[in-house]
Amino acid sequence: MKPFHETRQQFRAELESAAPQRVLGSGWASGILGVGLSLAGLLLVISARTPRQLLTAPQISPLQENDWFKLGVLLLLISGFTASVVSLALREAKILGTAGVVLALTASVIAQSISTANTAHPLPIFFGLDWFALNVLFTGLIFIPLERLSPLKEDQSIFREEWREDVFYVLVSCLMVQSLAFLPLAPGQLVGSLSPLGAVRQWIGELPLVVQLPVIMLSADFFQYWAHRAFHRIPWLWNFHAVHHSAQSMDWMSGARMHFLEIILMRSITALPVLALGFAPLAVEIYVLVAYVYTTLIHANIGWRLPLIHHFLVTPQFHHWHHGAEKEAIDVNFAIHFPLYDRLFGTYYLPKNEWPKGYGIEGHPVPQGYWAQLLHPFRRK
Ligand SMILES: [Zn+2]
Ligand SMILES: [Zn+2]
Repeated sequence: MKPFHETRQQFRAELESAAPQRVLGSGWASGILGVGLSLAGLLLVISARTPRQLLTAPQISPLQENDWFKLGVLLLLISGFTASVVSLALREAKILGTAGVVLALTASVIAQSISTANTAHPLPIFFGLDWFALNVLFTGLIFIPLERLSPLKEDQSIFREEWREDVFYVLVSCLMVQSLAFLPLAPGQLVGSLSPLGAVRQWIGELPLVVQLPVIMLSADFFQYWAHRAFHRIPWLWNFHAVHHSAQSMDWMSGARMHFLEIILMRSITALPVLALGFAPLAVEIYVLVAYVYTTLIHANIGWRLPLIHHFLVTPQFHHWHHGAEKEAIDVNFAIHFPLYDRLFGTYYLPKNEWPKGYGIEGHPVPQGYWAQLLHPFRRK
């Protein structure tokens, strides 16, 4: 039997295949789809079967005993298995197809042999493994096809340079969904409870949702704009934010690259007006979802210029310029929803048909790897 690390290297080499080995009909896309769907199914099964909801986000635990949810997981595993078999038939190297089949079968064995429902006596802590699986599944199923249909960089693969770091960033932020979801809300909730604006809060909370949503976006982005500028301006804060700017490729995964403390600080600041002004909880939940998908979109490897729209809303081109390695791209385009703020405060930059030639920070001061990046702000320069 081959040693484990050799198999792992072969697997990684297959994922990172060069363009000629990825063409349609080579069994690469079906292999990736098979591994992705089967892995997502396996993680969902493991989360549902781990006692005391340790690996389940509370938003998902009520779904686990739902028949539609179970049917969804079953269909996921069947699709993963089928795609892997297609890859086995088409592709000379069998490692992707084999991995997909093994993952799907392992999931179905676990699902059948361990029947403990994990709903009893939940532990006070949890790691949202199922949240991670669903998150990557949904954003991947939306953005991977979009990036294939209208790519900005045609030769950029899903498994481009540093993809493993970025997957790890998504994993950490999903596993830590508890602290990341509640901790940053504390200051806003405090301000909201102290707020002498009781009548105004009530009036805002009763506005139609279609009015509340843009108002939330406007107020959150105004706070985000100034906090973001501070992260660029103040050297100590920049050390944290430099991690986000260290990405040298832009795609649907690269927005996740953000230092843990920056996520907490940034969310506290943007949540402040949202919670203090008393918007309806449903409007806030919709905003969180919209903001998540929107952030993914503006980092994506999608070459849409979106004429007309770019006057009013932040587009991929606008945010790509924020990440550009060129001189013109330094300290511009801080808004993440409305370019209006950059126009008002003099930081707007959007040349008509141009995109940045490269991304990242000059001299690449940020080290590679999640843990090195976590320690980066604390290192003596
Ligand atoms: Zn920035
Ligand atoms: Zn960004």
